[in-house]
Amino acid sequence: MNINKFGGASLKDAKRIENVVEIVKTQIKSPGVIVVSAIGKTTNALEKVHKAYVEGNSQGAFEILGQIKNDHYKLCQELFSEKELEKIIHDLNDTFVEIEWILEEELSDGPNFIYDQIISIGELVSSKILAARLNQETVTATWLDARDVIRTDNTYRNASIEWKETKDLVNQFIPNICAQSDFCVTQGFIGGTSENFTTTLGREGSDFTAAILANSLNADGVTVWKDVPGVMNADPNLMKDAQLLKNISYNEALAMTYYGAKVIHPKTIKPLMQSSIPLRVKSFVNPEAEGTYVGALESELKYPSILVQEPNNILLKITSKDNSFIRERHLAEIFTLMNESGLVLKLDQNKPEYLTLCVGDPYSNIEKFDKDASANFNVEITEPVDLITVRHGDEADILSQLIGKKILHKIIAQDTIQYVTVN
Ligand code: ASP
Ligand code: MG
Repeated sequence: MNINKFGGASLKDAKRIENVVEIVKTQIKSPGVIVVSAIGKTTNALEKVHKAYVEGNSQGAFEILGQIKNDHYKLCQELFSEKELEKIIHDLNDTFVEIEWILEEELSDGPNFIYDQIISIGELVSSKILAARLNQETVTATWLDARDVIRTDNTYRNASIEWKETKDLVNQFIPNICAQSDFCVTQGFIGGTSENFTTTLGREGSDFTAAILANSLNADGVTVWKDVPGVMNADPNLMKDAQLLKNISYNEALAMTYYGAKVIHPKTIKPLMQSSIPLRVKSFVNPEAEGTYVGALESELKYPSILVQEPNNILLKITSKDNSFIRERHLAEIFTLMNESGLVLKLDQNKPEYLTLCVGDPYSNIEKFDKDASANFNVEITEPVDLITVRHGDEADILSQLIGKKILHKIIAQDTIQYVTVN
């Protein structure tokens, strides 16, 4: 059995959805699982609904939601015949109404809880549309609510997987579905707690869902369909002569995603590696092309230099107010505070003068961290900074890529060189 994942870009309009239907019909063996993200930029739009609501602007929230609903209905008009249209619109209405119920009430739950209840609707509706559309073809598709199988803790917005329960549930539901229909269509990015509340796994988490399902089912492989030819040795938008990497090891992929390569979600590789399940990254624009194979390789390949550039990070220089070096107890306190603020560590280096950290701040909590940490530490913050990581590169080559940037920090470790830069 294989898991195929289609992201928002591959579903962004009716033409793209028809393209996905074509890929499913011609490129994907049944039975299999299809995991989808929300359509196009729906998740960003739903975040705006959430923001307006938690800021007390329910009317604004309703207006943005109205636009999202309209976009989905318009799409359905292009995809479905009159008879089918009524059914799917009814189904979508029943799903969107969950948000309307929230918006009608005064805010009483925590914002992260509300976030997950609102944002998850994007995946619920996209998967319903794709399942219904596939059923108009010669293939059969059964829609599965991912919240029934992806069991998580209740860390809303960034839930952790309860692996044992998830494995049991996945194996209870999916093989049965696949015995009866060609494809099981489900949502990426969302899960459910044991109390049946909806959670999300962190932005762009749909790839991770595909890996969780693959690991749980001991699948033959995972394919993620992207708008790029596969995994490249640099972002093709930033480097003109970026080249496709045809084969990379799990370890290389882990390193690339850890340092910020956007093509695969960072949590995706480990569950696949653990069960030796290969990952293919393919282009939905050119589905016949091979793309990239990520898996166990006989020996590490000779890679070209691989450059991963991640903007919008934060550089921290930390000293302790007790005039001592930064020692283990300081590190324990700093990392605890980082964890509480959801900061994501990208680079760390401790020196006698100060501790340098480069972090991502997905939840915009840097001010909170600064306030909490300033009880015992002096924190110097520089933002935004780029984190540029080069693997297998020689320094001269790399410096030519950094022309015009100011280098604030540099670390060299074996085959990895990292720079923190500002423009
Ligand atoms: N729709 C979610 C997001 O945009 C999850 C995903 O795309 O993987 O973050
Ligand atoms: Mg996405």
